[in-house]
Amino acid sequence: MIFCSRNEDGIEKWRMVVEDIRIDPKVPICVTRRLKPIPVGKDVALQPGRGKKAIGRIRVKSCQSHARWSNVVTPKPPLPMTEFERLLDEEAHREGFRSWDGLLKWFKDHKISILDTFRIEFELLSFCDVCHAWFKEPFPGIFPSIICPKCVEEARD
Ligand SMILES: [Zn+2]
Repeated sequence: MIFCSRNEDGIEKWRMVVEDIRIDPKVPICVTRRLKPIPVGKDVALQPGRGKKAIGRIRVKSCQSHARWSNVVTPKPPLPMTEFERLLDEEAHREGFRSWDGLLKWFKDHKISILDTFRIEFELLSFCDVCHAWFKEPFPGIFPSIICPKCVEEARD
């Protein structure tokens, strides 16, 4: 999967995901939108551009049409305007953009209708130096693990 979009400051999405650069410190970059759905639970390569070598792997946690997601943020009765705008901006932060307007502008500039997209939630995987398998970091921190929990457990005493 290609993560070549850039936010309002020109920062590439792949960089934000791999280096854990966040708009809101509480909100990791964990959502993307693409034209085709991906099955939940599938691991896919994270590519910085078309034809470029993968620099990581992600696992798909949820996948729904953008239209379905829109229904979630437009309940009946409708949310107060400020709350609605806060939800959209929070969603933009999950995508690596400063604002919902900035996110929409990127789609418009690339002639993609956001209504045609699927909203995909993902998590970044780590690569185990010992067993060479991709794994989910149990306690993400400043220094990501490079050995999976299974290999750490086996190496004990
Ligand atoms: Zn391992």
